[in-house]
Amino acid sequence: MASALTDKLTRLVKEMRGQARITESNVQDMLREVRMALLEADVALPVVRDFIARVKDKALGQEVLGSLKPGQTLVSIVNRELAATMGEGVADINLAAQPPAVILMAGLQGAGKTTTTAKLAKHLIEKRRKKVLTVSGDVYRPAAIEQLKTVTSQAGAEWFPSTPDQKPHDIAVAALDYARKHYFDVLLVDTAGRLAIDEVLMQEIKDLHATLNPVETLFVVDAMQGQDAINTAKAFKEALPLTGIVLTKLDGDSRGGAALSVRQITGAPIKFAGVSEKLDGLEVFDAERHAGRILGMGDIVALVEQVTAGVDIEAAQKLAAKVKSGDGFDLNDFLAQIQQMKQMGGLSSLMDKLPSHLTAKAGAVDMDKAEKDIKRKEGIIQSMTPLERRKPELIKATRKKRIANGAGVHVQEVNRLLKEFEQMQGMMKKMKGGGLMKLMKKMGG
Ligand code: GDP
Repeated sequence: MASALTDKLTRLVKEMRGQARITESNVQDMLREVRMALLEADVALPVVRDFIARVKDKALGQEVLGSLKPGQTLVSIVNRELAATMGEGVADINLAAQPPAVILMAGLQGAGKTTTTAKLAKHLIEKRRKKVLTVSGDVYRPAAIEQLKTVTSQAGAEWFPSTPDQKPHDIAVAALDYARKHYFDVLLVDTAGRLAIDEVLMQEIKDLHATLNPVETLFVVDAMQGQDAINTAKAFKEALPLTGIVLTKLDGDSRGGAALSVRQITGAPIKFAGVSEKLDGLEVFDAERHAGRILGMGDIVALVEQVTAGVDIEAAQKLAAKVKSGDGFDLNDFLAQIQQMKQMGGLSSLMDKLPSHLTAKAGAVDMDKAEKDIKRKEGIIQSMTPLERRKPELIKATRKKRIANGAGVHVQEVNRLLKEFEQMQGMMKKMKGGGLMKLMKKMGG
């Protein structure tokens, strides 16, 4: 799925090449693909419609800047809008309350509430040096109380006992009292799981909220829930003033479209992402990265920006003009290309930004080796005289040997470099100019 979108966008970008402006007509196809991608990522339909309308508004009439093509500009707008929507208002847990700061955990059974409660306890202890107490208000499942006890001790926090014959309200009052008397900074309250929205249980958590007056009410939602997430989110938003979202199970293979749906429906910021069953599997939510995941494209915008920022556009244009005017592409230019690659932060930094389905294939490539290879090529060219660099055809056997000695490599490597240079020279001749992206692609194999 992911690669299909990337392919489609690439094709559309190609079709749009040469159009200077995003217009009503060229934006339609592109937005249709984005819409499909969002639906495939399980973003709820009304949320998709709303989002597409916003992107269209922002995109129409926008000048296409510098070396970016309309397609790339649109991808960049989509990506930014996604990241901005999901990233808005993100902040760490708010503990600005008279201690104990109470955090109420809400969500469906199985969403990951108990696990997340312990993960948060660990986070608050380790990252914010807090004294943390947990308590379970789930009087329906004794196993849930036991589970919280176990994971709380693993997290290094203290657990306040509760039993199934108690009322959730009484448990809350007792835990609050204990936390106050023992100077806890934070009280984390896990609540009863419900398999589906249930009026009685909804009322119960509302009452708990009133009793506890929490500084954070976190809605825990399973990223794999897809389209259903929207209904759950609606129900919880109506019942409780949610202050944040924790999106769990992002280590699964869902594209995580629930993030956008839930963010839009509740208006609450996505504060954390659960990325494993283990207690250290909690990360501060990264909206930029998640936007790439939803679109199935990796951090494509950062890649485009890095490529265009790292490259000296003027020098590239001069080079293109030189090729056109018949001056030829020589080893000095080849060296300049290699140095630009380095300037852009090297191969591994570019690889980091590529969609994972692409890099998975390249996973076998040893990045260290590839970067060493670039350094060796640089060494070889630097061992040549200025004349040899300008006229590589002069480099015959004895010169090759001298160059190899100078660079500390075998003659075969000099041969290989010259061959590669010839290929690139041929390619440069075919280019009509401004094709650095093309060149980059070729260089990347
Ligand atoms: P609760 O019913 O909402 O309290 O949910 P639990 O905390 O019991 O979690 C339900 C299941 O999801 C358990 O098997 C957890 O180990 C698992 N789980 C919770 N969070 C994550 C996560 O971020 N990643 C993965 N892979 N599993 C998770």
